[in-house]
Parts: sequence; C-alpha cells; structure tokens
Amino acid sequence: MKNYLAIDQGTTSSRSILFNSKLEKIHDSQKEYDLSYPDDGWVELNPDDVLVTVKETLQNVLNKCAEVEACGITNQRETTIVWSRETGEPIYPGIVWQDRRTSSYCDNLKSEGHEEIIKSKTGLVLDPYFSATKIKWILDNVDGAREQAEEGKLAFGTIDSYLIYKLSVEKNHFTDVTNASRTLLFNIHDMSWDKDLLDIFDIPSSMLPTVLPCDGEFGTIEYDANKIPIKGVIGDQQSALVGQNCFSGGDMKSTYGTGCFLMVNTKEKPIHIKEGLLTTVAYEINGEVCYAIEGSIYSCGNIIQWLRDKMKFFDDAKESEKYLSKLGNSNKVLFLPAFNGLGAPFWDPDIRGGFHGITQDTSIEDIVTAAFHSITFQTKEITDVLETNNIEINKLLVDGGMVANGTFCQVLSDTLQKVIIRPENVESTALGACKVAMIASGETDINLVGENKTFDPDDSLKKVYDASLDAWRSYIKINLS
Ligand code: ADP
Repeated sequence: MKNYLAIDQGTTSSRSILFNSKLEKIHDSQKEYDLSYPDDGWVELNPDDVLVTVKETLQNVLNKCAEVEACGITNQRETTIVWSRETGEPIYPGIVWQDRRTSSYCDNLKSEGHEEIIKSKTGLVLDPYFSATKIKWILDNVDGAREQAEEGKLAFGTIDSYLIYKLSVEKNHFTDVTNASRTLLFNIHDMSWDKDLLDIFDIPSSMLPTVLPCDGEFGTIEYDANKIPIKGVIGDQQSALVGQNCFSGGDMKSTYGTGCFLMVNTKEKPIHIKEGLLTTVAYEINGEVCYAIEGSIYSCGNIIQWLRDKMKFFDDAKESEKYLSKLGNSNKVLFLPAFNGLGAPFWDPDIRGGFHGITQDTSIEDIVTAAFHSITFQTKEITDVLETNNIEINKLLVDGGMVANGTFCQVLSDTLQKVIIRPENVESTALGACKVAMIASGETDINLVGENKTFDPDDSLKKVYDASLDAWRSYIKINLS
C-alpha cells in the first residue's frame, strides 16, 4: 500500500499527517505557534514560525516512515506574505485573514464605486478579510516596498505559495485556483488574474504566483534521499469539502475551527447570492472546475480559546462542554461574537464584541452558553439565507476541532432544526489535501470508511431557540456600524 502526506497549515498550528491509501492515519505530528495582535484589529504571524513548525512536523512523520508517494498541502487562506525574490525573506510579518487594518481603505474603494465590479469578477465582498488590500497595505507602508515591487523584486503569496517556494527544491512560485480565488485579484469566471482588479488595488502583476489546478505539479520536497512530489494544493475550507466527499451539487459542510465556514458545492455554476454569502472556487480536479457558496464566520473556536485563556473559566477547551446548557438556556445572556468584526452575512469590519443581559445572577454557565449560541446563531443566519435562495438543506456535515464537543453538535442541530452528521474522522481538512494528492497520483478509490454520528433535532426546543435567536438578532442589529 502506498503512503500519502498531508501538510495542514492552520491559523493556530501546523500539522503533518501520513495516510495510507485506505485513508487510515499512520503518523501525525502537530506544533502550535503564536499569533501577534500589535494593534486594534491587527493580527500577524511570523512566516518563520510557520515554516519551522511545518518542517518540524514533516521531519517527525518522515523519520517514522519516509516512503511517500505524494504530498498534498492545505492551508489557512487569504493570509498574506510578501517576500524578496533576491533574498527569499519576507519583508513584513504575515498579515492574517482575521486582520481588519484595511477597513477604511475598503470603505474608500466602496465610495469610489468599485464594489460591484469586484463582486462580479471575484464572487467576494469588498472586505479586509481577503488578500488584495493586505498586499496594498504592505506596498504602501514598508519602506521601499512599492519601488521594489515595480522592479519585479517582490513576490506575493498566500501560505500555500510561501510553503511551496520554501519547501520545493525548484523554489516554485505557484498557487492553486482555490487560494487564488480568495485574493480579490482572481477572476473566477475566466480563471485568471484580472488586470482591472490589479489596477483598482494598484498591485503589480509581477508579484503574483502562477495558478495551477488543485491536482497540478507543484514541485518536489527532498527529504534525505527521498523526493516527494507536491501533487495537491487546496485552501483549508475547500479541502474540508473534498475531505467530506461533498462532490455532488447541494452537498454541504460546515467546519468549526478558529473560524467557521459553511460551504455548499454548486458544481459548474457560480451562483451569486446577494445577502452576504460568497461565491468561490470549490476545486479544480481532473480538469473539472466546481464552484461553491460560502458563509464565513470569523470568530468561532477562538471564542472558546478566549474563555479559556483570558476569562480563565476552564483550563482545556474540552471542559467548555460541561458549562453548555443542553436546553438552550443562557438566562437571557447574549454574546456578540465580534472580536474582529463580523463576517457573513453582516460584513461589518468595525463592530466589536460584547455581552448583553448580565445580572447579579449571571453564571459562568450562562456566559459560556451564550458564547456557544453566538456560533450556532450565526450558522442559522447563513442557513436561512441559503433556504431563502431555494438551496435545500437536508443535512449538514460538520468537522473541525469544535465538533469533538457532542453537546455543541446537539445544540447546533436543535437551533437549526436540521440533522447534523459528524464523521468519525473530523480532520476533513487534512483528508481533503491527501485525497487531492491521491487523485493526482492516479488512485481511484478515495472513499472514506468509518462510522458517522448523527444528531437529530429535538423539535420541542424549537420555540426556545427561535425566541433566543430573535433577541440575539435585535442585539446585533443595534450594534452594527
Ligand atoms: P484551526 O484549524 O483553525 O487551527 P481546529 O480545527 O484545530 O482549528 O480547531 C481548534 C479550535 O477548536 C480551537 O479554537 C478550540 O478552542 C476549539 N475546540 C477544541 N476542542 C473543543 C471542544 N471540546 N469544545 C469546544 N471547542 C473546542
């Protein structure tokens, strides 16, 4: 049996996982790293931390088994790195997808009337989340950067590009269609970098990586005497879609990690929804381009981290489960989950978080329950928009670190009044990258084995959640900027 390597570079950690061709996990190594928050709404990472943690985890798994047929990379999307082509070194820290520093620049572009053309070409909204305004910020704020960029001396990449450049012996400057589709510079209809968009954001085209399909030839990692071809690259949310086998039209998954991202496969049709959901490239595999609708929620698992690390309510994210009410009861406490603004369907980069309804009696249970509800309510906002647009939801496949929490899955099912399905292996993101590398290597059987766990909605709780959701909606509404 052949072995395949998945590199999963996430917002909080880097992982390398070795799978066999039955998609069974053989070895796994994970290293966390820290983000920095230098100013209000700013989130940065050190590109060297990303590289070092990826290399360490790679070494850990390859030391145990160096025979690898191919490698797939999946990564946090939109996070922006600009590096010198001469030295190979970044000229500024990585600006992370959660960073909101370019919010007033986005407002300027909107007032100049650019929003519609950007939306129609990219399927995205004009928001600091995506890479283009982050690149522009670096060019405008790092000494000499713009001159160097205009002389063709700088390269831009999302994390996948940076890793391919640093890990491949060929030093390739490549990306894949899914990561490209999150930059605001890529036309998702003709599947190429777009000159009009580059002009709007004032970014030289010489900085951009070459775009390949997800199952392209991205280069070679050399480890000791072994050469491992990188045959799969796919952004993390699209990778989870593939990992969950959502290959048919209407298949949908929701990943609950640092952020939460709900995605529906719409096959060859890019469907535009006006109520704040994104249209994006799902994947290009075996010559077939498929699109997806995406609802992006910025704050999700990081809320639980905040309750753990800053509020000190518990020592381990797992313990949050015992504080979460199974009956939808937060004693009227509401949480506005806007550490870094709100994503879909509100798209407000300037709003900040808060609690409402605190009394002398408010307990840790109420606060933790309200925090979890803010995640399930945002999911409901997205599923409501989908249903308004005639996209049927029979069931929702879930994955990501948070769904280890079974009470959360049940609360989600009760809030949405939908069947929730959690696969045995919730690491769909890494699995997706592995599957793409397998397909590119000619494997045809990529179906996952394992038992799913199903959470059925309790309809006796519908009224409780509906009332609470109404109150939460009103609270959000008065706070939107
Ligand atoms: P990412 O890929 O974005 O780094 P993961 O999918 O690894 O994130 O998920 C990690 C997140 O899941 C953390 O933010 C953590 O707070 C949250 N988490 C992990 N276990 C639990 C749990 N049992 N209950 C609630 N949240 C959890």
